[in-house]
Amino acid sequence: MFPGTLGAGVVGRALERGIWSYSTVNIRDFALNNYGSVDDEQFGGGAGMVMRPDVLGGAIDSIKNRGKIIYFSPRGAQFNQKMAREFANSPDATYTLLCGRYEGIDQRIIDEYDITELSIGDYILSGGEIATQVFIDSTVRVMDNVLGGGQESAENESFEIGGLEWPLYTRPSVWRGRNVPEVLLSGHHGNIERWRKQQSDEITKQRRPDLIKENDK
Ligand code: SAH
Repeated sequence: MFPGTLGAGVVGRALERGIWSYSTVNIRDFALNNYGSVDDEQFGGGAGMVMRPDVLGGAIDSIKNRGKIIYFSPRGAQFNQKMAREFANSPDATYTLLCGRYEGIDQRIIDEYDITELSIGDYILSGGEIATQVFIDSTVRVMDNVLGGGQESAENESFEIGGLEWPLYTRPSVWRGRNVPEVLLSGHHGNIERWRKQQSDEITKQRRPDLIKENDK
């Protein structure tokens, strides 16, 4: 599963250039029986299996430089762009990213290692690997020297501008009878900036009023 999508595009190039690196630990290698089981039935009953603390503990202990341990789980605080920046800019920026399967992991692992839980949204995935890739992709993207357009292309993004992005256009200037808004062809930077801000505000108000700060309303 790794690098998976992280091997392509700007994040993949950053991996090749050594801007970030990763190694994987296969939890199954720490199974305590010959079948390689990592899960067991839930105490208290109920459908679905739970990942065993003894197995997970062995896997986590095998990692020398763990940094902060993050467990991806629907119960966690919701991951966002601001957090991506904080994780990217933290001094050592080393993380152990724990991917759950089945119903999840034994609570004692979370308590023992003081693990932070993070969710990528209000839906249930079958495993934490995709969530981990979402975390890595968005965190690496905002690291220095990853994006071609430099700092500016990271800062002109939805959420970074305090709302959603304005509409984007490229060549050709007329396509199937549809024109690019005149102002964008004018070369007048002040007007372009005003138009983009106004479009961004409009779209944000319609789609995500929750993003608008109290004093901007
Ligand atoms: N029983 C859990 C869901 C388990 S889904 C619950 O009700 O909260 C199996 C695994 O997928 C989880 O252990 C977690 O690592 C991952 N996962 C599922 N949905 C996720 C989400 N929204 N964000 C982050 N990780 C998620």
